Amino acid sequence: MTAPRLNLGDLRELCDRYVPARSRHRDSIHPADDELWWHAHELGHLLTVDPSGVGEPMFGLRDGVTPPTELVCRELAAIDVSRRLLASAARSDLARAELKGTDYSTVGYPDRGRVRRILRKHRAQRLPRTRASLERRLRQVVAAARGSR
Ligand SMILES: [Zn+2]
Repeated sequence: MTAPRLNLGDLRELCDRYVPARSRHRDSIHPADDELWWHAHELGHLLTVDPSGVGEPMFGLRDGVTPPTELVCRELAAIDVSRRLLASAARSDLARAELKGTDYSTVGYPDRGRVRRILRKHRAQRLPRTRASLERRLRQVVAAARGSR
């Protein structure tokens, strides 16, 4: 028996359950129908930030504190994870909408080496493809964040 594929409802539920509300972009709490990529985006952040940032506003990424290029690369890492989660959920249309909804200075940022290093550090180059395996990973991330305090 094969496990069922991820779907958009799974991504929303897992986001609401595991991504601390305090860390989320405000727009992701009640996204419009054409912005239903937000849940995957928040999961993308959760899977690519340092444990100490989980539960902090904007995952501890701060305008004026975190270097601007680092902010861009963290966004791109979240978007990269989001794109793949949405593809697993057969909603690549939403991944395209996410790119459209992201400002060009982020999307067009040329240096992807740092993004690749962030993904590698957080073991996010390969992602779980079922709800159960994704939920297992999210539990580990949240538990590691608790342990870091
Ligand atoms: Zn973001």
